[in-house]
Amino acid sequence: LLDVSNLHICFGEHQAVKGLDFTLHRHETLALVGESGSGKSATALAILRLIEHEGGSITQGRIRLFGDETHDLTALTDKQMQAIRGRLVSMVFQEPMTALNPVMTIGQQLFEALGKEQAITHRALQRLAIESLERVKVPHAAQRLRQYPHELSGGQRQRVLIAMALAAKPSLLIADEPSTALDVTTQAEILALLRQLQEETGMSVLFITHDMGVVAEIADRVVVLKDGHKIEEASVSALFDTPREPYTRLLMEAAP
Ligand code: ATP
Ligand code: MG
Repeated sequence: LLDVSNLHICFGEHQAVKGLDFTLHRHETLALVGESGSGKSATALAILRLIEHEGGSITQGRIRLFGDETHDLTALTDKQMQAIRGRLVSMVFQEPMTALNPVMTIGQQLFEALGKEQAITHRALQRLAIESLERVKVPHAAQRLRQYPHELSGGQRQRVLIAMALAAKPSLLIADEPSTALDVTTQAEILALLRQLQEETGMSVLFITHDMGVVAEIADRVVVLKDGHKIEEASVSALFDTPREPYTRLLMEAAP
């Protein structure tokens, strides 16, 4: 579904990602793992072509997305990319508070995400929004539509972000540490939810985390990043059986 080859990302002079190659298959959950600063978020933003907004740039490499047609994401214009974003590839961000608009209600933001592809009545949109919140198990869905992000708990905000990311039924969902800022119980619930949604929809997931415990729970395969390089790639079972790299072993030992 997704093929990343020889990806280089720079922030000014600083090389954040240095020649990354990986393939993500259809219906698969691939974990991108590495410690803080290893280039995980930069890779995600490059795939969405949002890296320029962060002051970075793709200096080399190719990112291809295979669907009904093949898209070379690195060659698309901003406008073409906008048409793909949400529908083919979508992202749940690391910081739900910054990813949600603080001055728009949950309803307004959901309506925008849900109404993009289709011209429907406000009443139908409202029903869709409530359904989408129920699907991600946000309690009192109807009342939530009138609330602002700060009125929700961290876990609820993360669920709203997931609902928004899934609004246009993307074939690839990128989840960047969607549970890191949450307590252990909420974290487990978010993971269970993502797994359930993945099974229901058959979408592929690129799951970003530094937590090997989470990898064991959710992923089929793993790519280990260190300093912008891929140092290991394996199925979860093979990796946990016999990690090749000392760095991977360190990450495993660091898992809570
Ligand atoms: P974390 O686990 O902390 O989220 P990460 O693996 O997602 O880390 P990235 O955010 O991809 O790391 O950062 C990779 C490198 O690029 C780091 O060295 C970081 O300092 C640098 N970097 C990231 N964003 C920017 C930016 N907006 N401007 C300058 N440098 C940046
Ligand atoms: Mg990050």
